[in-house]
Amino acid sequence: MHEKILEIKDLHTSFYTHVGEVKAVRGVSFHLNKGEVLGIVGESGSGKSITMMSIMRLLAESGKVKEGKVVFNGEEISSFTDKEMEKIRGNEISMIFQDPMTSLNPVLTVGDQLMEPLKKHLKITGEEAKKKAVEMLSLVGIPSPEKRLSQYPHEFSGGMRQRVMIAMSLICNPKLIIADEPTTALDVTIQAQILELLKELKDKLNTSIIIITHDLGVVADICNRINVMYGGVVVESGTTKDIFYKSRHPYTWGLLNSVPNPKLDTKERLKPIEGTPPDLLNPPKGCPFAPRCQYAMKVCMEAMPEKFSISENHHSSCWLNHPMAPKVERKLPDDTIEESPKGTGR
Ligand code: SF4
Repeated sequence: MHEKILEIKDLHTSFYTHVGEVKAVRGVSFHLNKGEVLGIVGESGSGKSITMMSIMRLLAESGKVKEGKVVFNGEEISSFTDKEMEKIRGNEISMIFQDPMTSLNPVLTVGDQLMEPLKKHLKITGEEAKKKAVEMLSLVGIPSPEKRLSQYPHEFSGGMRQRVMIAMSLICNPKLIIADEPTTALDVTIQAQILELLKELKDKLNTSIIIITHDLGVVADICNRINVMYGGVVVESGTTKDIFYKSRHPYTWGLLNSVPNPKLDTKERLKPIEGTPPDLLNPPKGCPFAPRCQYAMKVCMEAMPEKFSISENHHSSCWLNHPMAPKVERKLPDDTIEESPKGTGR
């Protein structure tokens, strides 16, 4: 029996703008087991980052969690006060963001920034904090860590800055790390190194990780399970193998077909999904993907698809899984040579 570290139940988050209520997250439920890596994948505007910001209570002022429960390590943190949440953030749950330059303070040394959460959350002495900071920089593969402590973020390369961010996120031994597009700003080689580092650290420290990304290729090698989000809802969830080899949702098929194929010419590497995401000011009453879906049926325009169970851990919210629906399989793009995810979850 797996022990759950995080459970989200029926989360609804809206933004109140001058043009009306934007329903950014519309009933999201999922869980994460201890020691597991979960990928949350979807295009921008799918609600993946807003779901995480809702959990962490880091929404912009116009945002509000309207409904839902967040249970972390057995406690319902959605009922915590802001002060109680402050103790959780950066201590028990930490975040890694896309662009370390905007998350790191340019006028403070890397050492000061690493030691700050230790002093704040763990109340340890300056000497102990320094020792721990050196240890963490060395753990994330930064050479000469002692010397690097007194340097400023601009003295580090992009990949090294992301390593510093990872060291910062790990320094208080969090139970959960949420990495939001952790490698998007990096070139492909550095991206692979950072993902490898996260994988190594996860095994070494047994931390649970959620990786948010728009690129399914990024999560293939590191995640145990994947949730695919679209239009503020989870449209498919399953193990990495289920999503890569047995997907039962046309939106996931589109994402799979848009994973860069290294065997093709660079100009032809991506097959983007045509059309635009739904307007969440006026969400459709039927399937949010219907206007872009080549398999859309009449029912798709009229009713939100039920959550169909393909297996115990694999679910798809698409009417094609109804026993009365026509039998449809994923079509590969014409020029896709073969489906080649680097990994298939463990
Ligand atoms: Fe396409 Fe209908 Fe499935 Fe939505 S429910 S993804 S529109 S087939």
